[in-house]
Amino acid sequence: TASGTAKSLTIEALHKNYTSRGRESFHAVKGIDLDIRPGELVALLGPSGCGKTTTLRMIAGLETVTSGDIRIGDRSIPDLPPGKRDVGVGFESYALYPPLTVRQNLAYGLKARKVRDADARVQAIAERLEMTDLLDLRPAGLSSGQKQRVALARALIRNPPVLLLDEPLSHLDAAQRQRVRRELKVLQREFGYTTIVVTHDQLEALSLADRLAVMNNGVIQQFGTADEIFDDPANLFVADFVGEPKINLTEGVAESDGTVRVGRDGRLVSAARSVPAGGSVTVGIRPQDVQLAEAGSVSVPAEVVVFEDLLEFGLATVRVEGLDSHLVVQTPAGVVRRRGDRLHLSAPPERVYLFDADSGDRLR
Ligand code: ATP
Repeated sequence: TASGTAKSLTIEALHKNYTSRGRESFHAVKGIDLDIRPGELVALLGPSGCGKTTTLRMIAGLETVTSGDIRIGDRSIPDLPPGKRDVGVGFESYALYPPLTVRQNLAYGLKARKVRDADARVQAIAERLEMTDLLDLRPAGLSSGQKQRVALARALIRNPPVLLLDEPLSHLDAAQRQRVRRELKVLQREFGYTTIVVTHDQLEALSLADRLAVMNNGVIQQFGTADEIFDDPANLFVADFVGEPKINLTEGVAESDGTVRVGRDGRLVSAARSVPAGGSVTVGIRPQDVQLAEAGSVSVPAEVVVFEDLLEFGLATVRVEGLDSHLVVQTPAGVVRRRGDRLHLSAPPERVYLFDADSGDRLR
């Protein structure tokens, strides 16, 4: 295997300023640092427009770098043409040659490099990605999901040390997505590709990635394992962006005794110590972390408004006196709540996150 030759990918203070004549420039990437280990798979997550694709395109050499450095191993690549970077690119928009079949398209680059077993490699990768039936079709006849598998095959077939994938599975149906995702992970491990996958799909990110980089407004908000990001979000954006069902975010007032007032009569204990008493904060509690408490304890009284039974768990939407928005509580399978049920809610102190109401910074 090639895993012995896996290479690190290092990004340092990377910026992209798009300029177009007569128009304001747009600062799409604002100083990114990422240290990706040899053979590691990193998922780049973030909302539309946050700069994910721009980042990948700079690594691939499809977009110029405004400032900063990108290194594969110890080789700096921003001044190299795309073809000399040792980067496999699985972008859907990457054109296939229309007159050639998929098989010829896949073999083309290999043959240009005088790779001897080109045809066998095409066959092998097609089998791994369940696309042998596509090999003799021409690009114009392919569905978007089929094009996507061809793009993936094309990125993988050269065994690049660095692999960049932009939403590689988004057009596949659910069953196929699961199979191709698994195969992609197997291939990635087997060959030791150092990989960045851009995805909107959190499940995909969690199942594929060793670490996640959460991006917003051209900045990496947090880089860590899924557990680190889920259990210890760096700021309000990360807490809100990662997690399904979504975290509850509500206003609260920090009290001098270390509790936070939530709604008219609610109190929660938080482990955050740096919070000025009397100050308004944003309180974040994941639906999974909400527990039932005894009446009279430090807790938040609530009333069930809607209950959804989702088989593996339930979701109760509850109303809290004095709060504008409802909270969502995940309940164990088999526990049925009804509209009008009254509950007392609490959460482990280290799971009650407090954020600066203005900046969104985590208060600890
Ligand atoms: P999506 O998930 O929708 O693809 P993204 O996170 O990949 O979003 P980018 O495509 O990197 O985002 O775009 C980042 C920002 O840069 C966007 O606001 C976009 O409008 C802007 N942008 C992208 N390409 C150009 C360009 N050629 N000229 C000017 N602005 C651009």
